[in-house]
Amino acid sequence: MSYKEVNFSKKSSIKIGATVNVFIVENSQYPHNHFIVGSANNLLVSQTPPPLLMLSKKFDYIKIVDKTLVIGAATPSGKVVSFCKKNNIKNFEFLSSLPGTLGGIVKMNAGLKEYEIFNNLISLKVDDRVVLKDEVDFAYRYTDIKAMIFEATFELQSGFDESKIELFKNMRANQPKDPSAGSCFKNPPNDSAGRLIEAVGLKGKRIGNMAFSEIHANFLVNLGNGTFNEAIELIELAEKVVFEKMNVKLEREIIVL
Ligand SMILES: Cc1cc2nc3c(=O)[nH]c(=O)nc-3n(C[C@H](O)[C@H](O)[C@H](O)COP(=O)(O)OP(=O)(O)OC[C@H]3O[C@@H](n4cnc5c(N)ncnc54)[C@H](O)[C@@H]3O)c2cc1C
Repeated sequence: MSYKEVNFSKKSSIKIGATVNVFIVENSQYPHNHFIVGSANNLLVSQTPPPLLMLSKKFDYIKIVDKTLVIGAATPSGKVVSFCKKNNIKNFEFLSSLPGTLGGIVKMNAGLKEYEIFNNLISLKVDDRVVLKDEVDFAYRYTDIKAMIFEATFELQSGFDESKIELFKNMRANQPKDPSAGSCFKNPPNDSAGRLIEAVGLKGKRIGNMAFSEIHANFLVNLGNGTFNEAIELIELAEKVVFEKMNVKLEREIIVL
């Protein structure tokens, strides 16, 4: 059994959180009452998080097997893109602008516009079971997966498209560079969380060193040594004011631990 000390104010993309011992998962025998961490690009970690675990580096791999693409869940998105470029494989270009590990990306059904990780998925290894795509309930930024994803298998199609790398980079042009966890709230059906936050006057709203970005209101950004409490205060403020003024219940995309 091994643990690793992780400082979430360094590891997480929003640069907030405690330093804690995280259980390292080597196989399907792991404590099921712990929260699974990928690379913490979508997490807001407090000073008192629940017990945490993450996959060992041995699940960081990518290979072609029987005309499919097999990817370990600890593999970072950038590595997937490099492999696809080298091997002329298409459909994964969007991962060039999407930070995370494959496990976190699958669990969140992460994506950019119409490009989502489930589009070309065939099956997953979840704990000791092979789960087919059709057996998973998935939607925009949602899956019902409750256990550890160890591996994912995708359709293999040739034709890496370099122009898409540029396209995705341009989509990011209107987003802030400050530390964040990406979108703070999910977009409500036929609307955008950024538009709603802006409409109620909270674009640029700052508490301490956290703020809803001036550049894109749905990005909760850390302006330097921002704290968990400041972040939560802003999240709760947006939820309250958007509900009061717009009658819309914002749903959090960021996961608070
Ligand atoms: C600058 C920036 C831009 C972003 N833009 C986008 C975007 O355009 N679209 C988008 O969808 N997201 C975006 N995100 C959010 C983030 O990239 C995704 O949510 C990504 O899926 C997080 O992956 P992770 O490995 O960091 O997971 P974490 O943040 O560590 O965890 C996220 C969730 O996945 C679960 N999880 C992690 N690994 C596993 C596993 N092996 N098995 C089961 N569950 C697991 C966790 O329990 C948690 O529920 C952005 C983030 C940042 C910082």
